[in-house]
Amino acid sequence: MIAVGLCAVASAASGAETTWATVTISSSRDFSPSPGWEKGGRPGHWVYTRDVVKTVPAEGREYPPVVVTQGAAAVDVRPFSDALTSHSSPCEAVQIDRRDVTCAYRSGYLVLTKSTELLHIDTVFGRRESDWIARQLRRDRAEFSRELGEKADPVVLVYLLPWAEGACGTLGGVREGLMLLGISRACVDKEHRPELSHFLAHETFHLWNYIVAPRAGTDPWAMMVLEGGAEWAADLVTSGGQSDQPLATSLADRIFSCASSLAGDTRSAYAIVKAQPSIAYNCGAVYVFEKSIVTFGESNARSRFFSWTRAEVTSAAASSKPAREPTGVASEGAVEATYRGTGNWLDATAAWMSAHGVRVRLDGPPTLSQARRMNIDIVRDVLKNDCAGRYGLYTDGIPRIDPVLKGCRTMSVGGQPVSLNGESLQANPVGAAEAWASACKKGEAVTVRYLDGRQESKPRCSKNGLVPIRTVGIVL
Ligand SMILES: [Zn+2]
Repeated sequence: MIAVGLCAVASAASGAETTWATVTISSSRDFSPSPGWEKGGRPGHWVYTRDVVKTVPAEGREYPPVVVTQGAAAVDVRPFSDALTSHSSPCEAVQIDRRDVTCAYRSGYLVLTKSTELLHIDTVFGRRESDWIARQLRRDRAEFSRELGEKADPVVLVYLLPWAEGACGTLGGVREGLMLLGISRACVDKEHRPELSHFLAHETFHLWNYIVAPRAGTDPWAMMVLEGGAEWAADLVTSGGQSDQPLATSLADRIFSCASSLAGDTRSAYAIVKAQPSIAYNCGAVYVFEKSIVTFGESNARSRFFSWTRAEVTSAAASSKPAREPTGVASEGAVEATYRGTGNWLDATAAWMSAHGVRVRLDGPPTLSQARRMNIDIVRDVLKNDCAGRYGLYTDGIPRIDPVLKGCRTMSVGGQPVSLNGESLQANPVGAAEAWASACKKGEAVTVRYLDGRQESKPRCSKNGLVPIRTVGIVL
């Protein structure tokens, strides 16, 4: 008989405390869970522990192994699935020493809460902030349900990312029936609410489109449908639907941002996205927009996109297994050609869009929103190259996305870059971008200062990146 005892000792809210999650397995067999779990105990009574603070995952395909909030905990028990398979429900195998704690099993996670009602939102923020988050999630779900059909209520755990004061960082993990939403404290401030709202819509959409996920880690088309689709869906929901202007602005920003990420690299957009999946968010949003035009003709952008996504989800549901191929992949066409081709992706895309009745204007310096987006992109790029800074993204001590980061095992969570070579990312993102691009070109180091002001670092850029300073304007 295998017994699993599971306990999460928590006060993750402070961030500073060390919190341990423990899984105890009484078995004659030995288990090898995923890296990060420390094995103790003795044969027949193994105890696996891990530091919850260190379980904040890198941005990418991974989901948090342990999530702890004030009233609930979710533990990824897939590493221990061997121990659980002899039970009809993993919850039956779990011995919980507290009577007021109830258990549910969702998508490989054991969700333990103090409430008897498991279908709830547990959050570490105050009542007003929690209510606001809950309202946003309800609105997003209602909106997507209308377009794509109902989904059962998920368990939603909102946990606090222990990131630096003032920096809004988010991390989402979504599976069938389960949403794990990591949010840093600054995100609930008024100024960051639009960003947070977009994040919540993005993650909510994953309840419908996570189905393409199994291939998303390796296939750029699937990744672009998955993340770009969620981005574009969030744009549609948060733009309010009154006019096409916010959508046009967002699309223009994404074209700009994608082009910025691709510029200076001689490979095709497809190859670059494959090597650097974080680019799939912006490039993917442009991709799904283009695909929805060619797939569904000249109606408005919203119905094109949702029709396409509905077809995608329906075909996957009909075969009752993950979509083998996102729509468009089986018969690659002109859209894919612009991503497969080498040369200037921005010009190719502008030409492609013009041919389909979407007017793209290329000129001038970046607009304010494009400069802001550039700021985010530069920070991401710096993060990938900086082994000394103290950030949240790409850390966890185990860089998982960029193989170049093999040596960056000492990074810890926290901090956020505020300037590059003295150029403020807030006040002068173009200057900061130029400083970064120029250093990349020459293979030089850049001095990075951080929000917490405690230290600076001098990462060396390993990529030949250049940022085009051209406005992208668009008329839908
Ligand atoms: Zn996503």
